[in-house]
Amino acid sequence: MRGAGSNKRPGGWRGSAAQIAVGRAAIIKWNRTRHLQPKCGAARKSDYAPCQNLAMANGRCHKHGGKTPKGDNWHRPLWPHRDAPGANTKLNRKLNDLQRTAAKREKRVARMSPEERAAHEQWQRTHKPGSAAERQRQREFRRQAKESRLLLSAEPPPAPTPEAQELQKLIDQLKAELLELEFRKGVFA
Ligand SMILES: [Zn+2]
Repeated sequence: MRGAGSNKRPGGWRGSAAQIAVGRAAIIKWNRTRHLQPKCGAARKSDYAPCQNLAMANGRCHKHGGKTPKGDNWHRPLWPHRDAPGANTKLNRKLNDLQRTAAKREKRVARMSPEERAAHEQWQRTHKPGSAAERQRQREFRRQAKESRLLLSAEPPPAPTPEAQELQKLIDQLKAELLELEFRKGVFA
């Protein structure tokens, strides 16, 4: 039975007094040096001050993108190393996570309205995973395609007014006369 003041957790393991003493000493030792450990410098959402959680090797805590892979393979799942302790368990957990995420995504897409679905598909088309160079190439291609679409859809020049037509006729006439004059000049020179 779990009475008030009892430390016993149902089904939990509780070591002997000696084991508890060892654990407590380890925690105290850790807490003595905790403030000396490198801290995460990411801006907190609440006040934009540095986060101050314990940082991982890359200088960020697990909440601030520290676990997100970087570089060209950022979108690929990170598999545990074959020789890592509990590699099998980690692998299974990872596979389950991926499956659950895929199922969640499917559900979310199925619930979308036609407009939301169109926006979603557009985003998927323009945000393909891949290397930074490949994404830059695609971006440039889209920019050029957009430019040519704009050029092609530009308004055709307006039809000339009757006045402009008259003037054009006059210009053509004068040009013809000039040609003839130049021709005669050449003949009778
Ligand atoms: Zn952080």
